[in-house]
Amino acid sequence: PPSRPAAPSLRPDDVFIAVKTTRKNHGPRLRLLLHTWISRARRQTFIFTDGDDPELELQGGGRVINTNCSAVRTRQALCCKMSVEYDKFIESGRKWFCHVDDDNYVNPRSLLHLLSSFSPSQDIYLGRPSLDHPIEATERVQGGRTVTTVKFWFATGGAGFCLSRGLALKMSPWASLGSFMSTAEQVRLPDDCTVGYIVEGLLGARLLHSPLFHSHLENLQRLPPDTLLQQVTLSYGGPENPHNVVNVAGGFSVQQDPTRFKSVHCLLYPDTDWCPRQKQG
Ligand code: UDP
Ligand code: MN
Repeated sequence: PPSRPAAPSLRPDDVFIAVKTTRKNHGPRLRLLLHTWISRARRQTFIFTDGDDPELELQGGGRVINTNCSAVRTRQALCCKMSVEYDKFIESGRKWFCHVDDDNYVNPRSLLHLLSSFSPSQDIYLGRPSLDHPIEATERVQGGRTVTTVKFWFATGGAGFCLSRGLALKMSPWASLGSFMSTAEQVRLPDDCTVGYIVEGLLGARLLHSPLFHSHLENLQRLPPDTLLQQVTLSYGGPENPHNVVNVAGGFSVQQDPTRFKSVHCLLYPDTDWCPRQKQG
């Protein structure tokens, strides 16, 4: 008997994954991502950087964007990148925007599974809160005399977060074509906080707290090994905190794979040519 037509299922190409990087990280960080998860999510992944790199552009197949934002670690430079990410997503026509850093591993299958449970026309903002309480920011209204405070939650950029197209479109007066940078200046907040400010503080929508996104602000060693392959994002502590990595067994030692991303990748995709051969029988 004829039944209700099923909702169209979400396809990988419906998701726009923006990776934020900087010229000096192309070798040390991005190369690893290109060899691991990005190789399984090529047409979904867009790399936002701040300097030309012909070699990267060849590998990126048209999905490397030089934002021309300055390569310094200032609020303005980072907000400049977020603003270009936002504009490129709107232009792409895709259903979901997800942002990650260049020290995140993304599991494209888990991401798709998570996003499939929502409609992109609803107001959806998904990620891990940075703090265990909302932040309070001071809004300066034009002229600078009137000062009010707003409280809101925001998703930490270092764990990755996603926005539905419906919500992203509503953000446009404060986010599109460079207005993201003026919004950030008004509240004097970093890029990820400014996203939270627009969503919760200005639009009255809510952050959906998800435990599946991870940054190196957490103790990554504590993530249960049997849940690693279901997480949406992972990260690693880096040179300042080399022990803060996920606890994964596998074919690579910590010397061979200090971030543990290769080991995770080989568990997810054992058919990869550089993965250790699976044991027989
Ligand atoms: N980043 C950037 N410009 C800079 C420094 C960092 O775009 O001048 C990016 C970097 O590529 C990464 C993110 O910002 O995607 C966070 O940087 P990092 O992991 O070094 O610092 P964290 O804030 O996580 O300690
Ligand atoms: Mn980081």
